[in-house]
Amino acid sequence: MNTRLLAFFLPLALTLPAYPQSISPRAREIQNAAIVVDTHADTPQRFLDENYDIGSTDPNDHGHISLDKAKAGNLGAEFFSIWVEPETNQGHFARHTLDLIESVNEQDARHPDRMMMAFSVDDIERAHREHKLAALMGIEGGHSIENDIRLLRDYYRLGVRYMTLSWSNTNEFADSSGDINESKVEHHNGLTEGGKQIVLEMNRLGMLVDISHVADKTFWDVIQVTKAPVIASHSSARALTNHPRNMTDDMLRAVAKNGGVVDVNFYSGFVDENYRVQSEPTGKQAGEAISAFREKQKAAGKYVPYMEIDRIEREWAAKIPRPPLSSLIDHIDHIAKVAGIDHVGLGSDFDGVSGATPQGIDSAADLPKITQALLDRGYTAGDIRKILGGNVLRVFREAEQVSREMQATASPK
Ligand SMILES: [Zn+2]
Repeated sequence: MNTRLLAFFLPLALTLPAYPQSISPRAREIQNAAIVVDTHADTPQRFLDENYDIGSTDPNDHGHISLDKAKAGNLGAEFFSIWVEPETNQGHFARHTLDLIESVNEQDARHPDRMMMAFSVDDIERAHREHKLAALMGIEGGHSIENDIRLLRDYYRLGVRYMTLSWSNTNEFADSSGDINESKVEHHNGLTEGGKQIVLEMNRLGMLVDISHVADKTFWDVIQVTKAPVIASHSSARALTNHPRNMTDDMLRAVAKNGGVVDVNFYSGFVDENYRVQSEPTGKQAGEAISAFREKQKAAGKYVPYMEIDRIEREWAAKIPRPPLSSLIDHIDHIAKVAGIDHVGLGSDFDGVSGATPQGIDSAADLPKITQALLDRGYTAGDIRKILGGNVLRVFREAEQVSREMQATASPK
């Protein structure tokens, strides 16, 4: 390059962001060789409410997940979230759970050449060999089982491989971090006796126990009772971003001792303290706008589609500047340091955060930027493979093994 050109490019180089916009051949190589597993995406809401097709090639689609985007980011396995909004689905949680499970299967039926339903680590590895996206399912919120352990077993039979013990709502057996300070809600001081039986039944079935969203006391009760390693399917570090949805350092160390994995949530309000503080007032206003919309729909006897809620949330989220990608990487780094490199993974919360992800992360196609950023911080290829999915696969395999052992020694109660 001649000096005149250099003089032209140099100021440009100085204004480049500190985080990678381009992916080096080394990062690309690591990404492409890894089995990349993401443990939380809310795309089923779109399948159901928007009739969204995962094969969409619409360049204007704002969604985080499509088959093309997954391929571009070499996403190998996605745990699709089966999340039943408790307010609008009051009285028919199980029915809506089944609708969502059906919606994932329907996508699989439409695209058998590019995706496959997966129920085990072996399935995920087979999908990887066949260059297909492995589609798994996790139920988000114990209210889906309607306090009936037979429904838990049925969901397992339908392919559900994890259950988040609570969503933001406390249910019959587990306190949630989402309403733990609300005096109107009846709490249990963590996990009830029945809740402990549910955890053990999940261990027996081989369904991963997910402690994201639960109240702190529920977490500690689960750690005491579970016989298999647990996951936090989409939680970040509270020491960096002070949100009750995030995990304290003591919790991170407890998950490490348990052999489990904490999969970092990409939501800006969970990975950036500045964003979290700024989003408190706007989040409140968004909540009021959503309540008003709900009331209006209810009065008209109409259904409340998730896409409308999402649209309102997006409007409010767009008022706050997106944090840098380094905020997300800081959380991965913190959990790797506190819990250890074997206990951190990815739990994006894609399609569930109304577009509020850090700069540069606009879809699954951007996952290689995380690999590049980790390389830049000195992580080895082996470490990065663990973070991208190796740790989750290890935990899943151990849960499968615990299940086999429990089934060999005990019959269901
Ligand atoms: Zn969630």
